[in-house]
Amino acid sequence: SRLKKGLSKTRKGITEKVDVILKSYKKIDEELFEELEEVLITADVGVNTTMRIIEDVKDKVKERKITEVEEIRELLKEELKEILTEVDENISLNIEPSPAIVLVVGVNGVGKTTTIGKLAYRLKNEGKKVLIAAGDTFRAAAIEQLTEWSNRAGVDIIAHQEGADPAAVIYDGIQAAKARKSDVLICDTAGRLHNKKNLMNELNKIFRIVEREYPEATKEVLLVVDATTGQNAVLQAKTFKEACDISGIVLTKLDGTAKGGVVLAVQSELKVPVKLVGVGEKIYDLQDFDPDNFVEAIFS
Ligand code: GDP
Repeated sequence: SRLKKGLSKTRKGITEKVDVILKSYKKIDEELFEELEEVLITADVGVNTTMRIIEDVKDKVKERKITEVEEIRELLKEELKEILTEVDENISLNIEPSPAIVLVVGVNGVGKTTTIGKLAYRLKNEGKKVLIAAGDTFRAAAIEQLTEWSNRAGVDIIAHQEGADPAAVIYDGIQAAKARKSDVLICDTAGRLHNKKNLMNELNKIFRIVEREYPEATKEVLLVVDATTGQNAVLQAKTFKEACDISGIVLTKLDGTAKGGVVLAVQSELKVPVKLVGVGEKIYDLQDFDPDNFVEAIFS
C-alpha cells in the first residue's frame, strides 16, 4: 500500500533496528531496554512517549512473566497500538450531521493548502456538496493556490482580496454555505506563528464568528503539522492547542520521512487524535489514519 511504501524509512529506522537488537540479546535485561529506548527516540517518538512505552513494556514483561526476548516485539506493537487508540476510538472526521464546518489551522509550509484541496476532493467524491473559504488573506499566493486546488477538486471557493479581514471571509463563507445548502464548509486560516497572542486573537475571532453565525453546524478543527519536522511538529501542535480547541490532527508528508514515529509523540503528548495523514503531493494522497495499519506498516 502507499502508506507502507511511504513509511519504509520509518520502518528501517524502527523495526530493522529493533530486530537486530532483539537478536543480539539472550535474556531480557535493563541494557536491552536502554537500546530499544534509543531506537524510539531516534525515530522521533519523543522522549516522554518513549519512556512511557518502555515502562509499559517492562510492566507487561513482569506481569506476564515473559522470558523470551523475541516476545518483546509483540509487546512493542501492542503498546504502540494502545497509544494510538487511547485518545479516541472513533477517529473519523466530525462532519456528520450536515451542515458541517471544518476549520483548518497550522503554520505556513506544512501542507495546509494541499490538505484542504485533497479533503475537498475526497468529500466531493463521497457525494457531499463542499465549499471552501480562503481565510488566509495574508499572502496573495495562498489565495491563488487555494483557488487552484478548488478548481482541481471541482468545488466552489469564497475568497477576498489579499489583506482582507480573515473573519469577514469566514463570515461570507458561512452565508454562502447556508444559501447553497453546502454539506461541508472547509475554512483556511492564517498560519503565522511568530506571535502567539496574535494567533490566538485571530483564531478566536474566527471561532466567535462560527459560534454566532453557524451554531447548527457540526464542527471540526483540524491542525495540520508536517511529519518531516519531527519534534518541532509536536511543539507547534502544543502552541495551537493552547490557542484553540483542536479536535483532530492531520500529519502531512508522512511519505518518505524517517520521522514517522512523530505520530506517536503527537498523539500521546497532545491527547488529540491524528485523523488524517498526507502521503504524497497528489490530490488523492490523503488517507484516514488507521492505527492498526500504521503499526503493521512499521512492524512488518
Ligand atoms: P501551506 O503553506 O501550509 O499551505 O503548504 P502547501 O499546501 O502549499 O504545501 C507545501 C509543500 O508541501 C508543497 O510543495 C506540497 O506539495 C507539499 N506537500 C503537502 N502535503 C504533502 C504530503 O503529504 N507529502 C508530500 N511529499 N508533500 C506534501
